[in-house]
Amino acid sequence: MIVALAGGVGGAKLAHGLYRILKPNELTVVVNTADDFTLYDLRICPDGDTVYYTLAGLANPATGWGVAGDTFETLAALRRYGEDTWFQLGDRDFATHLLRTQWLRSGWRLTSVWQAFTNALQVRARILPMSDDRVATVVRTPAGELAFQDYFVRRHHADEVLGVQFAGIEEAQITDEVRKAITSAESIVFCPSNPIVSIGPILAVPGMRELIHAARTAGVPVVAVSPIVGGRALRGPADRMLSGLGHEASSFAVAELYRDLLSGIVIDHEDQEEAARIETLGMHALVTRTIMENDADREQLAADVLNFIAKLRFAGGVVVGE
Ligand code: GDP
Ligand code: CA
Repeated sequence: MIVALAGGVGGAKLAHGLYRILKPNELTVVVNTADDFTLYDLRICPDGDTVYYTLAGLANPATGWGVAGDTFETLAALRRYGEDTWFQLGDRDFATHLLRTQWLRSGWRLTSVWQAFTNALQVRARILPMSDDRVATVVRTPAGELAFQDYFVRRHHADEVLGVQFAGIEEAQITDEVRKAITSAESIVFCPSNPIVSIGPILAVPGMRELIHAARTAGVPVVAVSPIVGGRALRGPADRMLSGLGHEASSFAVAELYRDLLSGIVIDHEDQEEAARIETLGMHALVTRTIMENDADREQLAADVLNFIAKLRFAGGVVVGE
Protein backbone atom coordinates (compact mmCIF):
# COMPACT_ATOMS: atom_id res chain seq x y z
CA MET A 1 0.00 0.00 0.00
CA ILE A 2 1.29 3.43 -0.96
CA VAL A 3 0.15 6.37 1.12
CA ALA A 4 0.06 9.79 -0.56
CA LEU A 5 -0.47 13.08 1.26
CA ALA A 6 -2.33 15.66 -0.80
CA GLY A 7 -4.10 18.99 -0.84
CA GLY A 8 -6.25 19.88 -3.82
CA VAL A 9 -5.47 20.38 -7.49
CA GLY A 10 -1.66 19.91 -7.49
CA GLY A 11 -1.80 16.92 -5.16
CA ALA A 12 -4.72 15.30 -6.96
CA LYS A 13 -2.79 15.31 -10.26
CA LEU A 14 -0.01 13.09 -8.90
CA ALA A 15 -2.47 10.99 -6.85
CA HIS A 16 -4.32 10.38 -10.13
CA GLY A 17 -1.10 9.33 -11.87
CA LEU A 18 -0.34 6.87 -9.05
CA TYR A 19 -3.93 5.60 -9.13
CA ARG A 20 -3.72 4.95 -12.86
CA ILE A 21 -0.51 2.93 -12.72
CA LEU A 22 -0.98 1.02 -9.45
CA LYS A 23 -3.15 -2.05 -9.05
CA PRO A 24 -6.64 -1.35 -7.64
CA ASN A 25 -6.79 -0.71 -3.89
CA GLU A 26 -3.05 -0.12 -3.60
CA LEU A 27 -3.32 3.61 -2.96
CA THR A 28 -4.45 5.54 0.11
CA VAL A 29 -4.59 9.33 -0.11
CA VAL A 30 -4.57 11.33 3.13
CA VAL A 31 -6.06 14.73 2.34
CA ASN A 32 -5.93 18.16 3.94
CA THR A 33 -9.19 19.29 5.56
CA ALA A 34 -8.01 22.64 6.92
CA ASP A 35 -9.50 24.35 3.81
CA ASP A 36 -12.96 23.08 4.77
CA PHE A 37 -15.61 25.65 5.54
CA THR A 38 -19.36 26.18 5.76
CA LEU A 39 -21.31 28.05 3.11
CA TYR A 40 -25.13 28.28 2.86
CA ASP A 41 -25.08 26.00 5.92
CA LEU A 42 -23.33 23.34 3.85
CA ARG A 43 -20.04 21.71 4.73
CA ILE A 44 -17.62 22.14 1.84
CA CYS A 45 -14.40 20.06 1.60
CA PRO A 46 -12.56 21.65 -1.35
CA ASP A 47 -9.47 19.41 -1.26
CA GLY A 48 -11.29 16.14 -0.55
CA ASP A 49 -13.79 16.83 -3.32
CA THR A 50 -10.97 17.63 -5.75
CA VAL A 51 -9.24 14.34 -4.95
CA TYR A 52 -12.23 12.04 -5.38
CA TYR A 53 -13.55 13.88 -8.42
CA THR A 54 -10.09 13.65 -10.01
CA LEU A 55 -9.59 9.94 -9.28
CA ALA A 56 -13.13 9.25 -10.50
CA GLY A 57 -12.32 11.02 -13.77
CA LEU A 58 -15.05 13.59 -13.09
CA ALA A 59 -12.95 16.70 -12.43
CA ASN A 60 -13.22 19.69 -14.69
CA PRO A 61 -10.01 19.47 -16.77
CA ALA A 62 -9.88 23.26 -17.30
CA THR A 63 -9.77 24.15 -13.60
CA GLY A 64 -8.75 20.92 -11.87
CA TRP A 65 -11.61 21.40 -9.36
CA GLY A 66 -15.37 21.03 -9.66
CA VAL A 67 -17.22 18.59 -11.89
CA ALA A 68 -16.62 18.52 -15.67
CA GLY A 69 -19.59 19.90 -17.58
CA ASP A 70 -21.28 21.22 -14.47
CA THR A 71 -23.75 24.11 -14.72
CA PHE A 72 -24.15 27.02 -12.30
CA GLU A 73 -27.91 27.66 -12.30
CA THR A 74 -28.22 27.45 -8.52
CA LEU A 75 -25.59 30.16 -8.07
CA ALA A 76 -27.34 32.31 -10.68
CA ALA A 77 -30.61 31.90 -8.75
CA LEU A 78 -28.84 32.85 -5.52
CA ARG A 79 -27.54 36.00 -7.21
CA ARG A 80 -31.12 36.95 -8.12
CA TYR A 81 -31.73 37.15 -4.36
CA GLY A 82 -28.78 39.51 -4.06
CA GLU A 83 -26.21 36.98 -2.86
CA ASP A 84 -22.54 37.65 -3.58
CA THR A 85 -21.62 34.23 -4.95
CA TRP A 86 -17.84 34.47 -4.64
CA PHE A 87 -17.29 30.71 -4.22
CA GLN A 88 -18.08 28.65 -7.32
CA LEU A 89 -20.36 25.70 -6.58
CA GLY A 90 -21.77 23.84 -9.57
CA ASP A 91 -25.23 22.29 -9.60
CA ARG A 92 -23.88 18.71 -9.57
CA ASP A 93 -21.27 19.66 -7.02
CA PHE A 94 -24.07 20.87 -4.73
CA ALA A 95 -25.28 17.26 -4.43
CA THR A 96 -22.00 16.34 -2.72
CA HIS A 97 -22.29 19.21 -0.24
CA LEU A 98 -25.97 18.53 0.51
CA LEU A 99 -25.45 14.87 1.28
CA ARG A 100 -22.23 15.42 3.20
CA THR A 101 -23.93 17.97 5.42
CA GLN A 102 -26.92 15.72 6.02
CA TRP A 103 -24.75 12.70 6.84
CA LEU A 104 -22.52 14.69 9.17
CA ARG A 105 -25.59 16.09 10.96
CA SER A 106 -26.91 12.58 11.42
CA GLY A 107 -23.69 11.70 13.21
CA TRP A 108 -21.43 10.20 10.56
CA ARG A 109 -17.69 10.73 10.77
CA LEU A 110 -16.16 12.67 7.88
CA THR A 111 -14.08 9.56 7.07
CA SER A 112 -17.30 7.56 6.50
CA VAL A 113 -18.81 10.31 4.36
CA TRP A 114 -15.77 10.33 2.06
CA GLN A 115 -15.76 6.54 1.98
CA ALA A 116 -19.40 6.57 0.82
CA PHE A 117 -18.54 9.07 -1.95
CA THR A 118 -15.49 7.13 -3.16
CA ASN A 119 -17.50 3.88 -3.19
CA ALA A 120 -20.38 5.45 -5.08
CA LEU A 121 -17.97 7.04 -7.59
CA GLN A 122 -16.28 3.62 -7.99
CA VAL A 123 -12.87 4.90 -6.99
CA ARG A 124 -10.73 1.93 -5.99
CA ALA A 125 -8.48 3.84 -3.62
CA ARG A 126 -8.98 5.01 -0.05
CA ILE A 127 -9.34 8.74 0.31
CA LEU A 128 -9.07 9.71 3.95
CA PRO A 129 -9.47 13.09 5.63
CA MET A 130 -6.40 13.89 7.76
CA SER A 131 -8.75 14.02 10.77
CA ASP A 132 -12.48 13.85 11.53
CA ASP A 133 -12.11 16.95 13.70
CA ARG A 134 -12.58 20.48 12.40
CA VAL A 135 -9.39 22.38 11.64
CA ALA A 136 -9.46 25.77 9.92
CA THR A 137 -6.56 27.60 8.29
CA VAL A 138 -6.39 31.29 9.18
CA VAL A 139 -4.08 33.55 7.17
CA ARG A 140 -2.60 36.65 8.80
CA THR A 141 -2.25 39.48 6.27
CA PRO A 142 -1.77 43.27 6.38
CA ALA A 143 -5.59 43.44 6.03
CA GLY A 144 -6.03 41.32 9.19
CA GLU A 145 -6.73 37.65 9.85
CA LEU A 146 -8.62 36.02 7.01
CA ALA A 147 -10.42 32.68 6.89
CA PHE A 148 -8.64 30.56 4.30
CA GLN A 149 -11.25 30.67 1.51
CA ASP A 150 -11.68 34.38 2.07
CA TYR A 151 -7.95 34.84 1.47
CA PHE A 152 -7.69 32.27 -1.30
CA VAL A 153 -10.86 32.57 -3.35
CA ARG A 154 -12.69 35.77 -2.43
CA ARG A 155 -9.52 37.90 -2.36
CA HIS A 156 -7.67 35.83 -5.02
CA HIS A 157 -4.68 35.15 -2.69
CA ALA A 158 -3.49 38.69 -3.43
CA ASP A 159 -2.73 39.66 0.19
CA GLU A 160 0.77 39.40 1.54
CA VAL A 161 1.00 36.44 3.95
CA LEU A 162 2.47 37.31 7.35
CA GLY A 163 1.51 34.15 9.17
CA VAL A 164 -0.59 30.99 8.97
CA GLN A 165 -2.40 29.24 11.81
CA PHE A 166 -4.50 26.09 11.91
CA ALA A 167 -7.34 26.74 14.36
CA GLY A 168 -8.38 23.56 16.19
CA ILE A 169 -5.23 21.62 15.28
CA GLU A 170 -4.19 20.93 18.89
CA GLU A 171 -7.44 19.05 19.51
CA ALA A 172 -7.50 17.27 16.16
CA GLN A 173 -6.94 13.54 16.34
CA ILE A 174 -5.45 11.18 13.81
CA THR A 175 -8.14 8.70 12.80
CA ASP A 176 -7.63 4.97 13.19
CA GLU A 177 -7.76 4.68 9.40
CA VAL A 178 -4.95 7.21 8.86
CA ARG A 179 -2.85 5.68 11.63
CA LYS A 180 -3.22 2.18 10.18
CA ALA A 181 -2.47 3.41 6.66
CA ILE A 182 0.76 5.12 7.71
CA THR A 183 1.98 2.37 10.02
CA SER A 184 1.45 -0.26 7.31
CA ALA A 185 2.60 1.86 4.35
CA GLU A 186 5.13 0.37 1.97
CA SER A 187 6.10 3.92 0.98
CA ILE A 188 4.83 7.44 1.58
CA VAL A 189 4.59 10.18 -1.05
CA PHE A 190 4.08 13.88 -0.37
CA CYS A 191 2.30 15.10 -3.50
CA PRO A 192 3.28 18.46 -5.06
CA SER A 193 0.78 20.36 -2.93
CA ASN A 194 1.25 23.68 -1.20
CA PRO A 195 3.75 22.88 1.61
CA ILE A 196 2.35 25.55 3.95
CA VAL A 197 -1.44 25.26 3.66
CA SER A 198 -1.99 21.79 2.13
CA ILE A 199 0.72 19.45 3.43
CA GLY A 200 1.39 21.78 6.40
CA PRO A 201 -1.93 21.08 8.18
CA ILE A 202 -1.66 17.30 7.60
CA LEU A 203 1.79 17.27 9.23
CA ALA A 204 0.53 19.53 12.03
CA VAL A 205 -2.08 17.04 13.28
CA PRO A 206 -0.57 16.04 16.62
CA GLY A 207 1.39 12.81 16.23
CA MET A 208 1.48 12.84 12.41
CA ARG A 209 5.11 13.87 12.00
CA GLU A 210 6.11 11.25 14.59
CA LEU A 211 4.20 8.51 12.71
CA ILE A 212 5.87 9.39 9.40
CA HIS A 213 9.25 9.77 11.05
CA ALA A 214 8.90 6.35 12.66
CA ALA A 215 8.01 4.82 9.29
CA ARG A 216 11.06 6.41 7.69
CA THR A 217 13.29 5.23 10.52
CA ALA A 218 11.96 1.70 10.02
CA GLY A 219 13.14 1.86 6.39
CA VAL A 220 9.96 2.94 4.61
CA PRO A 221 10.91 5.31 1.75
CA VAL A 222 9.28 8.73 2.18
CA VAL A 223 9.42 10.87 -0.93
CA ALA A 224 8.10 14.35 -1.78
CA VAL A 225 7.52 15.93 -5.17
CA SER A 226 8.29 19.64 -5.14
CA PRO A 227 5.44 21.97 -6.15
CA ILE A 228 8.01 24.72 -6.82
CA VAL A 229 9.64 24.82 -10.25
CA GLY A 230 12.24 27.48 -11.05
CA GLY A 231 11.42 29.41 -7.89
CA ARG A 232 7.73 29.65 -8.71
CA ALA A 233 4.53 27.81 -7.87
CA LEU A 234 2.90 26.42 -11.00
CA ARG A 235 -0.35 27.89 -9.73
CA GLY A 236 -1.52 29.51 -6.52
CA PRO A 237 0.44 31.35 -3.85
CA ALA A 238 2.90 28.71 -2.54
CA ASP A 239 5.95 30.74 -3.67
CA ARG A 240 4.68 34.00 -2.12
CA MET A 241 3.64 32.15 1.05
CA LEU A 242 7.11 30.65 1.42
CA SER A 243 8.78 34.05 1.07
CA GLY A 244 6.20 35.77 3.28
CA LEU A 245 7.02 33.27 6.02
CA GLY A 246 10.77 33.82 5.71
CA HIS A 247 11.72 30.87 3.49
CA GLU A 248 13.26 30.83 0.03
CA ALA A 249 10.78 30.14 -2.74
CA SER A 250 12.63 27.04 -3.94
CA SER A 251 12.60 23.26 -3.96
CA PHE A 252 15.41 23.46 -1.41
CA ALA A 253 13.08 25.31 0.99
CA VAL A 254 10.42 22.64 0.46
CA ALA A 255 12.99 19.94 1.22
CA GLU A 256 14.01 21.85 4.34
CA LEU A 257 10.42 22.09 5.60
CA TYR A 258 10.09 18.30 5.34
CA ARG A 259 13.68 17.60 6.25
CA ASP A 260 13.50 14.96 9.03
CA LEU A 261 10.69 13.16 7.29
CA LEU A 262 12.01 12.54 3.79
CA SER A 263 14.32 9.96 2.31
CA GLY A 264 14.15 11.77 -1.02
CA ILE A 265 12.62 14.60 -3.02
CA VAL A 266 11.75 14.84 -6.70
CA ILE A 267 12.59 18.17 -8.32
CA ASP A 268 12.26 19.53 -11.82
CA HIS A 269 15.02 19.67 -14.46
CA GLU A 270 14.84 23.42 -14.11
CA ASP A 271 16.05 23.12 -10.50
CA GLN A 272 18.83 20.66 -11.23
CA GLU A 273 21.46 22.91 -9.62
CA GLU A 274 19.61 22.65 -6.28
CA ALA A 275 20.13 18.88 -6.06
CA ALA A 276 23.55 19.00 -4.40
CA ARG A 277 22.39 21.51 -1.79
CA ILE A 278 19.29 19.41 -1.08
CA GLU A 279 21.48 16.34 -0.52
CA THR A 280 23.31 18.23 2.27
CA LEU A 281 19.98 17.98 4.16
CA GLY A 282 20.43 14.21 4.35
CA MET A 283 18.07 13.14 1.59
CA HIS A 284 18.37 12.06 -2.03
CA ALA A 285 17.19 14.21 -4.92
CA LEU A 286 15.76 12.92 -8.20
CA VAL A 287 15.75 15.36 -11.11
CA THR A 288 13.04 14.76 -13.71
CA ARG A 289 10.14 16.44 -15.47
CA THR A 290 7.62 17.34 -12.76
CA ILE A 291 5.16 19.42 -14.78
CA MET A 292 1.93 17.51 -15.38
CA GLU A 293 -0.03 18.88 -18.32
CA ASN A 294 -1.99 15.73 -19.22
CA ASP A 295 -2.73 12.20 -18.05
CA ALA A 296 0.44 10.83 -19.66
CA ASP A 297 2.55 13.34 -17.67
CA ARG A 298 0.77 12.30 -14.47
CA GLU A 299 1.50 8.62 -15.13
CA GLN A 300 5.11 9.31 -16.11
CA LEU A 301 5.82 11.34 -12.96
CA ALA A 302 4.07 8.66 -10.85
CA ALA A 303 6.28 6.01 -12.49
CA ASP A 304 9.40 8.11 -11.82
CA VAL A 305 8.35 8.43 -8.17
CA LEU A 306 7.82 4.66 -7.84
CA ASN A 307 11.21 3.93 -9.44
CA PHE A 308 12.88 6.42 -7.11
CA ILE A 309 11.19 4.69 -4.15
CA ALA A 310 12.44 1.30 -5.36
CA LYS A 311 16.00 2.66 -5.61
CA LEU A 312 15.83 4.25 -2.15
CA ARG A 313 14.59 1.00 -0.67
CA PHE A 314 17.46 -0.84 -2.27
CA ALA A 315 20.00 1.81 -1.21
CA GLY A 316 18.71 1.66 2.35
CA GLY A 317 19.36 -2.07 2.32
CA VAL A 318 15.96 -2.60 3.86
CA VAL A 319 13.29 -4.50 2.02
CA VAL A 320 9.80 -3.46 3.01
CA GLY A 321 6.69 -5.07 1.58
CA GLU A 322 6.99 -6.99 -1.68
P1 GDP B 1 -4.94 23.39 -3.96
O1 GDP B 1 -5.31 22.87 -2.60
O2 GDP B 1 -6.01 23.18 -4.99
O3 GDP B 1 -4.36 24.76 -3.93
O4 GDP B 1 -3.79 22.43 -4.46
P2 GDP B 1 -2.49 21.81 -3.85
O5 GDP B 1 -2.05 22.46 -2.59
O6 GDP B 1 -2.63 20.33 -3.87
O7 GDP B 1 -1.50 22.16 -5.00
C1 GDP B 1 -1.03 23.48 -5.23
C2 GDP B 1 0.39 23.36 -5.69
O8 GDP B 1 0.44 22.44 -6.77
C3 GDP B 1 0.98 24.64 -6.20
O9 GDP B 1 2.00 25.03 -5.32
C4 GDP B 1 1.54 24.28 -7.57
O10 GDP B 1 2.84 24.78 -7.77
C5 GDP B 1 1.55 22.77 -7.55
N1 GDP B 1 1.33 22.18 -8.86
C6 GDP B 1 0.25 22.30 -9.66
N2 GDP B 1 0.42 21.60 -10.78
C7 GDP B 1 1.65 21.02 -10.70
C8 GDP B 1 2.40 20.17 -11.57
O11 GDP B 1 1.98 19.82 -12.67
N3 GDP B 1 3.64 19.77 -11.13
C9 GDP B 1 4.15 20.17 -9.91
N4 GDP B 1 5.37 19.75 -9.57
N5 GDP B 1 3.46 20.97 -9.08
C10 GDP B 1 2.23 21.38 -9.47
CA1 CA C 1 -6.65 23.46 -0.99
